[in-house]
Amino acid sequence: MCPWSHEIEELRERGLLRTMPLVNGMPGRIVTVNGRDVLNFSSNNYLGLAGHPDVILAASGSAQHYGAGSTASRLIAGNTEIHRELESFIATWKGTEAALVFGSGYQANVGVLSALADRGDLIISDELNHASIIDGCRLSRAEVKIYPHLELGRVEDFAKAGGYRRKLVVTESVFSMDGDLAPLKDLDEICHRWGAILMVDEAHATGIMGHKGQGLALEQGVVPEIQMGTLGKAVGASGAYVAGRRSLIDLLTNRARSLIYTTAPSPAVSGSALAALKIIVSEEGAERRNRLKTNVGMFQELLACGPWARPNASHIVPILIGDSNRTMRVSAKCLSKGVFAHGIRFPTVPEGAARLRLTLMSDHTLEDLINAVEILLEASTNIRNDGFRS
Ligand SMILES: *Cc1c(COP(=O)(O)O)cnc(C)c1O
Repeated sequence: MCPWSHEIEELRERGLLRTMPLVNGMPGRIVTVNGRDVLNFSSNNYLGLAGHPDVILAASGSAQHYGAGSTASRLIAGNTEIHRELESFIATWKGTEAALVFGSGYQANVGVLSALADRGDLIISDELNHASIIDGCRLSRAEVKIYPHLELGRVEDFAKAGGYRRKLVVTESVFSMDGDLAPLKDLDEICHRWGAILMVDEAHATGIMGHKGQGLALEQGVVPEIQMGTLGKAVGASGAYVAGRRSLIDLLTNRARSLIYTTAPSPAVSGSALAALKIIVSEEGAERRNRLKTNVGMFQELLACGPWARPNASHIVPILIGDSNRTMRVSAKCLSKGVFAHGIRFPTVPEGAARLRLTLMSDHTLEDLINAVEILLEASTNIRNDGFRS
């Protein structure tokens, strides 16, 4: 007897069994899902840079120059000029003393939190923070206080507490599954008042917010002590960075196990991330950000015609459905009609809060947006009574 068939069956019954769709073609506004061309509302490739010719060329150029793999960890023999160049570009762009690149955002969050917090420390974390933050908290062995989403009063209550060696407040800037924004200025003030350190995860704001895509903190005039962002979303490559003081980077280089005990990112990945960042700070980047912003506004107007609550003005648009099975049925229906709008279920979001998570791209046309809303309406019609909030 298979030792885990029972668990698989239970997942299936609860509507929580996950499988991987097969997505082919150059990543853009149209992708091929399970063999069919569909409108793409499911990627984090917000600015279309994953398919940008210059970014692709930089990947192959770096591979030609440095080889396919980095051959060792950063601290042994895997640290090349392209890694260094990428980090110094990020530090300049973010206006920090230094930056450190990790293999992924997951690794960065787990590495930072477990390196900086330990027994005797306190981590104060938003209830909707990403799984990588949750896992970093767990690995750290620090005491962890979870506050209700964006409830600053609770943050302050937790931050007041004495008797800890170090207190960290950690939040996403643009929340990955809801698309809403953290009030970083207020969080920063609370941190200053009570001697806590602010860590901000800019995974979904990097490349999008700030006049050169530096993130939401810059847009809100805040300089968090620890600034993390990813290179696999709007930047279109993969990996992540932490930017801050030189001493922070030095400590992480010595303590972050997810940096030390893993092979360095490949030169191709680092080269493409650098090329994408150069586009992000350029005129073309600003133009792509503007087109995305226009699409966000138009999509909000279009959605207002449907039965849905008005979404946040963001490139991440959750369509709340609630039930997991129902969510996946609506998603499948959308896909069959040519719109890739992935369903998100527990434990990625709280139980009973399953949703479609639509993401907008700068490359979407007005026609794409109209099509998406029409198909969304059609797909949800026969389940609206027992599902959609209005
Ligand atoms: C995606 C994401 C991560 C993880 O980044 P990867 O590079 O995909 O590992 C971390 N934090 C948030 C908020 C994210 O959305």
